[in-house]
Amino acid sequence: MTKLDGASAIVTGASSGIGFAVARHLAACGAKVAVNYHGDAESAEALVAEIKQAGGEAFAHRADVAVEEEVTAMFDRTVERFGRVDILVANAGIQKDATIGEMTLADWNAVISLNLTGQFLCSREAIRRFRSQDRAAAPTRAAGAIVSMSSVHDIIPWAGHVNYAATKGGVAMLMKSLAQEVAPENIRVNAISPGAIRTPINREAWEEKDALEKLLRLIPYGRIGEPEDVARAVAWLVSDEADYITGTTLYVDGGMTLYPGFSDNG
Ligand code: NAD
Repeated sequence: MTKLDGASAIVTGASSGIGFAVARHLAACGAKVAVNYHGDAESAEALVAEIKQAGGEAFAHRADVAVEEEVTAMFDRTVERFGRVDILVANAGIQKDATIGEMTLADWNAVISLNLTGQFLCSREAIRRFRSQDRAAAPTRAAGAIVSMSSVHDIIPWAGHVNYAATKGGVAMLMKSLAQEVAPENIRVNAISPGAIRTPINREAWEEKDALEKLLRLIPYGRIGEPEDVARAVAWLVSDEADYITGTTLYVDGGMTLYPGFSDNG
């Protein structure tokens, strides 16, 4: 199992879906985890209780990661509790789907504000903290590691979801530009782009049998992804095992980005 002993991690949007599985798995790998949530305190607290029960360290923290002061407060509290921050998993994200004629400015702004500005605010704060900490005391070889949760829609266009796809395309260049900027300080910045993962965000795509069959036609590996598939990839990417990796996007998608429509000669 990947080792993250003693590392302090913040996982945003960790009360459900991918973030929940990531927080749980990082804790199982030995990290202390700040479980950020926005609405569902009960689920976040249940996860914290589960982590503590298993001998780990965690606390739940409510913050809207699209709001600057709330992001700063979340990092302050993590440093208060764990003494430092070594890992950020900027996972929180939403969809507000509509065809272009029907998409309101509010739909556009809400998605940009969380999926892109939220990533900027959290990454900036993480880098400020990484810079201010004692390098010699770092539990990892890197001075800090960030994983941005992107999507296969950072390269696959998605009609009816232009706001969401635009944010994920934006995350790709935010991640790479940041990685370039901070690599000389031994700070690593990478992205993970999940394909179709079974979570509340895309329930309509997997809950009904017909919908699931249609979805599976887009996945060469023949199954929907589970949050734990992404969680294991995140843990590896923030660990010393991936110490020489920065500025990269890891696709955790069962082959969804392999143009499955061409598999029988197009
Ligand atoms: P989810 O809806 O279960 O998780 C999203 C989380 O973000 C929730 O916990 C929610 O409370 C939180 N959140 C919403 N607004 C917030 C705010 N303002 N501040 C803090 N947290 C907030 O869905 P998920 O599938 O687990 O999505 C997690 C990430 O994975 C998202 O960035 C999403 O775009 C990405 N992703 C998911 C899939 C998939 O198939 N499920 C595929 C590609 C990418």
